[in-house]
Amino acid sequence: MTAPPHEAHPAGPGRALPDTQQGMRRRNLARVMHTVSAEGPLSRAAVASRIGLTRAAVSTLVDELIRTGLLEELGPERPGRVGRPGSALAVSARGPAGLGAEVGVDHLAACAVDLRGRVRARAVRYGTHRGRSPEPVIEQLAALVRRVVAEAEGEGLWPAGLAVAVPGLVARDARTVVRAPNLDWHDADLSALLPADIPLTVDNEANFGALAELWLGEGTPRDFLHVSAEIGIGAAVVVDGLLLRGTRGFAGELGHVPVWPDGPACPCGGRGCLEQYAGEKAVLRAAGLEPGEDRVGLLARRAEAGDEEVRRALRAAGTALGIALTGAVNLLDPEAVVLGGALAGLAPWLLPSLREELARRTAGPACPVSVSELGPEGPLLGAAHAVVRAVLDDPAAVAECG
Ligand SMILES: [Zn+2]
Repeated sequence: MTAPPHEAHPAGPGRALPDTQQGMRRRNLARVMHTVSAEGPLSRAAVASRIGLTRAAVSTLVDELIRTGLLEELGPERPGRVGRPGSALAVSARGPAGLGAEVGVDHLAACAVDLRGRVRARAVRYGTHRGRSPEPVIEQLAALVRRVVAEAEGEGLWPAGLAVAVPGLVARDARTVVRAPNLDWHDADLSALLPADIPLTVDNEANFGALAELWLGEGTPRDFLHVSAEIGIGAAVVVDGLLLRGTRGFAGELGHVPVWPDGPACPCGGRGCLEQYAGEKAVLRAAGLEPGEDRVGLLARRAEAGDEEVRRALRAAGTALGIALTGAVNLLDPEAVVLGGALAGLAPWLLPSLREELARRTAGPACPVSVSELGPEGPLLGAAHAVVRAVLDDPAAVAECG
């Protein structure tokens, strides 16, 4: 890739700090936080040697982070070592927490993740939102968020931000859902309906799923395509550890990449899009099944039991995914493709034909395709962790509002 990826959302990771003395202090606070977060518990001396600052400079930064509740001292480190024992520092298990929330077509979820990355509170509510306007749905989501906040506050945490994953296109203002076809939402500004006192970021569920994979996945490379599905099929492009968002923030619409140019009409206005072959509705239709509750579970159970019609439908979906991914892989040359969301649960029956198609059509060695191990909660966790990462990236900003 010659062009750098677009900058992240305002509250997202990778925000650049100004190149002033104040900016330098903030950057150093971030380096201390990231170091302790990745390798802690660590003594002040160990942090100083890791980031190449003097022990005195690190002590000043650490004192500030302890005062604002972002780091805590665990007591003397390894007694018996030569010299004055240093106190081990850890990222605080109290203080700021990341709130994640997800609007699914059939569920709502919210969770709180502390700075150590542990889920400390969560709430889920099932029920279809198809054909419902955004207001009542987001009101229910706000109630779930309040429940999670109350539970987290009981444990000494406070919300540093709220990130909401939605199955649709989100404007670069990180609050307006421009189009969510499976919810039938258009130009819905979610910020008016969510708690006004918590900084908000709204993003596509595939983007948060990809970030979860990047931050929490085992051995995830820094250049990869993340393909996920709930009802529609979305993808996220991660380049050198950052999301590639596109001019309007709409990058990753793999579901509307044409597989057969003369295929069936798609609600997007095109024809023969991937979603018409590998989307949930299409696969159910091809398998001779009716849409209903727990559709992915039903497909998996039927395929497992040897239902040849279901297996054939999934093989065909895998082929269509392989064709659509060929374009993306040839264009972007990622290190890997990761299947997440509902696709992960169907991988045993999708993967063989997907891999075969991709290998047959791509130049050079085939791009490896793996399956996410984060399960259906990937986007929710990615959302909460995006807030946590934003705290680690600029702890001074959080301390100011905490
Ligand atoms: Zn389409």
